[in-house]
Amino acid sequence: MKSTTDYSKYFVPTYTKNGAPMVRGRGMYLYDSNGKKYLDFGAGIAVTALGHSHPEIVAVLKKQGSALLHASNLYHLRPQIDFARLLVKHSFGDRVFLCNSGTEANEAAIKFARKWACKKDKAKYHILSFTDGFHGRTYGGLSATAQRKFHDGFKPILSGFHYAPFNNIEKTEHILNKHAFAAVIVEPVQGESGINRAATEFLRFLRRYTTKNHIALVFDEVQCGVGRTGTLWHYEQVKVIPDIMTTAKPIGGGLPLGAVVCKNKIATVMNPGDHGSTFGGNPLACALGTVVLKTIAKKSFLNQVQKNGAYLKEKLQKITAGNPSVTEVLGIGLMIGVRFKDDPTPIISACKENGLLVIKAGYNTVRFIPPLVVTKSDIDKAVGIFKKVLIKSM
Ligand code: PLP
Repeated sequence: MKSTTDYSKYFVPTYTKNGAPMVRGRGMYLYDSNGKKYLDFGAGIAVTALGHSHPEIVAVLKKQGSALLHASNLYHLRPQIDFARLLVKHSFGDRVFLCNSGTEANEAAIKFARKWACKKDKAKYHILSFTDGFHGRTYGGLSATAQRKFHDGFKPILSGFHYAPFNNIEKTEHILNKHAFAAVIVEPVQGESGINRAATEFLRFLRRYTTKNHIALVFDEVQCGVGRTGTLWHYEQVKVIPDIMTTAKPIGGGLPLGAVVCKNKIATVMNPGDHGSTFGGNPLACALGTVVLKTIAKKSFLNQVQKNGAYLKEKLQKITAGNPSVTEVLGIGLMIGVRFKDDPTPIISACKENGLLVIKAGYNTVRFIPPLVVTKSDIDKAVGIFKKVLIKSM
């Protein structure tokens, strides 16, 4: 296939790809260059929350695109201000820093936390994160990602990073007591390693410990935030307010946009020149971000995510019950995983052949993270294809 040959020829091979190029998207569907249509339950890895080519996104894209594409962060930009105001209105945060991706948001969060903590005590630069977490591919995010497979070949990772077992209060406290920490960073629902929820008690323990010891609590909501789990932010459900939260993926409506949301006490330690980004908070991405936030923050929209998420999980539980190769259906909202005993890559490939896009998470989980505008009828179709594939694979 020509496209496959071109990929091998021209690209650093960081992805495994096959099939015809995707050329068009509409609502819940992606279309390839052969005209084949795919029901998209991957949403570009939890990005296209409003579906493909959402009319309001396209309208704002045209309007802002013809007004201003780039001017730089040396100047005030109205779309940035509108977006930041909305982000602050709809979160615990007092201020935001805008960047282009999840990993950049985490880099900034780590820097902000270190500057804040080191102001009190220069030794307070250590960062704690958790097994199976994922925080990105740049060196800060990578160093916070406690998974050996991502570190292999890229060592040394940054110094001062430590790992504790996810959801284990006792061992976490033991490690926290050993070093002078600046920050604890955690995904309230782990996405890339499978869909693993942090126990509410665990997050509450982290909040108590960090508050007592002048440590910044950072929630990485890059994948689980922006309505994905049925509330705008996952922290709302566990009633644990972090000091810093990172967001990206769906927030830019399909364009690169990331944000650090933080409390004043953190924001005010940063000075002009301490951090920056040429493209961060690009006006076009921010204009789309405003559409995304306005739409998803609506109670009626989030109620629908909760209902459809419960419906998807229940249907997946029903069709996998008694299947010896499936161990569990897990997750919350529209962030659902089906965990297998073995590597589910052949199942995922067969789903694609049958017109359904789903994504692998970790070693053994098939991730269902559709656009948040998914309907019951889309869910029926997707689960129907998945069931057919499972039956054939038995
Ligand atoms: N944090 C989490 C929880 C993620 O899931 C991801 C990406 O999958 C990242 C950070 C990195 O985001 P990006 O790929 O936009 O750099």
